[in-house]
Amino acid sequence: MENLENAIQEIKKELPGMKMLENEPLSAHCSFKIGGPARVIAVPSDVTSLSKICCILKEHELAPFLLGNGSNILFPDEGLSDLFIISTEKLQKLFLLPDGAIYAEAGVSLAKLAGFAQQHGLTGLEFASGIPGTVGGGLRMNAGAYGGELKDVVESVVTYYLPDQALYELTNEQCDFAYRNSRFQKVGGFVLLSAVFRLQEGEKEAIAAKMRELNERRRDKQPLDLPSAGSAFKRPEGHYAAQLIDECGLKGLTVGGAQVSPKHAGFVVNVGGATSHDVYDLMMQVRNTVYEKTHVPMEPEIIIMAPDYKLEDHGPIVPRNRVSFTGPGAEAEETPKS
Ligand SMILES: Cc1cc2nc3c(=O)[nH]c(=O)nc-3n(C[C@H](O)[C@H](O)[C@H](O)COP(=O)(O)OP(=O)(O)OC[C@H]3O[C@@H](n4cnc5c(N)ncnc54)[C@H](O)[C@@H]3O)c2cc1C
Repeated sequence: MENLENAIQEIKKELPGMKMLENEPLSAHCSFKIGGPARVIAVPSDVTSLSKICCILKEHELAPFLLGNGSNILFPDEGLSDLFIISTEKLQKLFLLPDGAIYAEAGVSLAKLAGFAQQHGLTGLEFASGIPGTVGGGLRMNAGAYGGELKDVVESVVTYYLPDQALYELTNEQCDFAYRNSRFQKVGGFVLLSAVFRLQEGEKEAIAAKMRELNERRRDKQPLDLPSAGSAFKRPEGHYAAQLIDECGLKGLTVGGAQVSPKHAGFVVNVGGATSHDVYDLMMQVRNTVYEKTHVPMEPEIIIMAPDYKLEDHGPIVPRNRVSFTGPGAEAEETPKS
């Protein structure tokens, strides 16, 4: 705590013009609309000041938590009082490189990136136009939909690596992308700054039509009128999470203000006043019931930041389970993991 307070004072002194939101409700910074106050959210205006913040935090033996659009996170009702959060909302550079590839900074929304590609007659990002995240959050998760994934279109990623306090450019292969996973998720310490996307030439109107079609499918199938964090669980191998949940009769299951969406069983929605405890307890009930009935273990896709989180080796937030899981991997989950 003392380290954090000292770091905040030093950052204010070194970067006087920078926006610093203090005791800011996290519910205003995530798509679930859940979460108590954050001690601080810094909003650097460029990658240089972001890197400077990281250096100062390192001197105080702290690591930041990077926040994109908060569309994949469950924040705790208790808030996050001993964490330094950095928002990428001002990292908005987006342009075409001379060789036709697209350069985008971490805070650019995937919708804006996909729209930019369409305007330049570049195909390959249509799948991303309805994903409500940013380039940074999307890369960490290898966001994907309708058969496309960022891994198909990323050429390289520039990252500030906290342990070395150095910038690295990683090739697509070095990002170690996999289904809803990447090197940036497996190993902590990567602050993603920007990426280059390599697309194919296409017909502007055909690209726009594809985007409209996919977004219509989304509107038809997903509960976009209610706050959520997208799919609650990753797709278990050989199955679809939503189908398993539906077949177990869990559509509409409610805990407090959290509900398994009656429209799409893969979504947990905030029907009004949901707490993080409601969402967490509902997710664990769903996971345990599906396992008991089908023996298929499901892994949360949402990043659950429990109140007793901790930082390990400059790594990401490590959630700890409050309810025990009765399937395989249960012992492993007793201890925090990244
Ligand atoms: C209605 C709805 C529909 C969705 N549909 C899809 C879908 O079709 N496909 C899909 O894949 N996802 C989907 N999602 C989930 C979510 O939008 C994606 O996972 C998205 O990529 C998250 O991006 P974000 O900017 O919101 O990340 P955040 O939620 O802000 O952060 C997610 C993680 O990334 C980390 N992070 C963010 N920025 C950086 C950075 N610059 N450097 C390092 N780490 C960073 C955070 O620390 C956190 O660990 C959906 C969500 C909603 C609410």
